[in-house]
Amino acid sequence: MAEAGSFAEKVKQQADIVRVIGEYVRLKKAGQNFMGLCPFHQEKTPSFAVHPVRQIYHCFGCGAGGDVFKFVMELEKCAFPEALRTVAEKCGIPIPRPRERSPEERRENQERGALVEMHRDAAAFFVRQLREGAEGHVAAAYLEERGLDREALARFGLGYAPSSGDALLRHLKQKFSEKLLDTSGLFSRDQRDQGGGRLFDRFRRRVMFPITNESGKIIAFGGRAMGDDMPKYLNSPETPIYSKSHVLYHLDRAKQALRQSDFGILVEGYMDAIAVARAGISNVVASCGTSLAEPQIRLLRRFTRRVVVNYDPDSAGQTATERSLALLLEKEFEVRVLALPGGADPDKFLHEQGADAYRKLLAQAPPYLDYLIGRARQMDRSTAEGKVAALNFLMPFVQKLPNRLLRSEWATKIASDLTVDEPVLREALRRAAAERRSEVKPKPELLAPAVKPVERRLIQMLVEAEGFREKLASEILSHGLHRGLDTEKIFEALISIAGERPDPATLASALEEKDRRMLFDILFESSAEHTWDEAESCLDSLRSRQITRELAELEKKIQAQPAADELRRLLERQMELRRFLAQRQAANPVPRTQPGPSPSPR
Ligand SMILES: [Zn+2]
Repeated sequence: MAEAGSFAEKVKQQADIVRVIGEYVRLKKAGQNFMGLCPFHQEKTPSFAVHPVRQIYHCFGCGAGGDVFKFVMELEKCAFPEALRTVAEKCGIPIPRPRERSPEERRENQERGALVEMHRDAAAFFVRQLREGAEGHVAAAYLEERGLDREALARFGLGYAPSSGDALLRHLKQKFSEKLLDTSGLFSRDQRDQGGGRLFDRFRRRVMFPITNESGKIIAFGGRAMGDDMPKYLNSPETPIYSKSHVLYHLDRAKQALRQSDFGILVEGYMDAIAVARAGISNVVASCGTSLAEPQIRLLRRFTRRVVVNYDPDSAGQTATERSLALLLEKEFEVRVLALPGGADPDKFLHEQGADAYRKLLAQAPPYLDYLIGRARQMDRSTAEGKVAALNFLMPFVQKLPNRLLRSEWATKIASDLTVDEPVLREALRRAAAERRSEVKPKPELLAPAVKPVERRLIQMLVEAEGFREKLASEILSHGLHRGLDTEKIFEALISIAGERPDPATLASALEEKDRRMLFDILFESSAEHTWDEAESCLDSLRSRQITRELAELEKKIQAQPAADELRRLLERQMELRRFLAQRQAANPVPRTQPGPSPSPR
């Protein structure tokens, strides 16, 4: 729990949960709440709610819920300090420099800052070389031929690394230490030299593509060879500021379009991403390699869960591609595949056929498994062995599907598309459809029992009714009216803090998951104005319930034929309670209106 006056407390007070969660989930206003598709379980209709006033989220489907920190921790799989930092950053709350940061950390931070600065300088240098350098006009002509005019070069920050081998080194040497130059990934060391070897430019005679992180800072470069130099593409190595598996090219510019269109186009290289973006389709990102890494998928998932994969269909690593795409399925993406005719990559296709033709094919891109079935059909299936091979190719993908119904649908489709009649194969398919190793089963203990309207109402009052919260709490406590209720633990927690305004997230941390879920369920209902009159009526109902329960117990004890003294005592008590109930009914011949069940937020 956040300590008063601490940074955590400050962030908690200032953070806007709708804004933070809105970066991960598409939220729509629904009454007082915001609703969206739950990021913690798969669903087609939204049951994930965010409460802007109470600053909590709650999924009516899987029961996930908590405050903004819990959300970030669960989704990013990180610890509290990191979640705190993330939330502060997203809400523009300045993060204080930790007073006792270790010298090591301070040094690393400075190094990263200097490396970012170096990359900015290098990018400016490359741009100048392309525009004014001696070799620049050759490169510009080459790019022009590939359809990249001056406007495009400027828009994507393209540059040129000259062939001399030390042009960039000479430029940066005055400002940065040799050690830093060495770490930057912009230089290589001559291994033939003795005594460590001299540094020289890693990128020579190449068109340079700046690679930016999510916030638009240049952290690496991709260099494309002019002519037939090998390798065709050369990227920055891993450095303190660049990790290939954590970056999607063009994401910083695609963010908004990804959210708005709720789907992304995934291409292989930067030339492809640029070509697609130039065709007016901004929601495109490049993985910069055939194998998509899990951190990249997590990154993309914050913006959309629907993706059209437009990789080079003839790429050598097709199997690797298909494997990494299976990862997308596993992460519950809706995946479609755009395979351009003639084995063209997006860059080439757009260059030759134009944006309209591309858009048309994009709209028709088939779901991923349709595409895979197509691939399986191309295999030789004239023999039993061939059929088994085709099925074995498909089954891992079927098993990756998180939803059992979907898996069984696909099994049926595959059986009919591949004309699988053999019972053995059908059985194998059926098993593939049924099994999923990492299947998430709903925990039965998390399924909250339906809470009675009276209890719901009282709990809402204990949270909200500033005027009589304490009075209500002491009334419930002194008569033990909450004992034996399904909501007993929730009442206990609320009563124990009745003097103060309850914070749902703090309450939640004091409750077991089942009770926490029940509480959030209740808190997400829109509640009407509270009056003491209504509170009294709810309390009455609990009192009657208490009496009815006691009567039932008495009945049981009387049935057990106790000793005469005891029996008399029991009968007297029974009489007393019955009389009491009768009086109450006489006083209220028509039962006072009790709050009916509030409309479900679903
Ligand atoms: Zn959920």
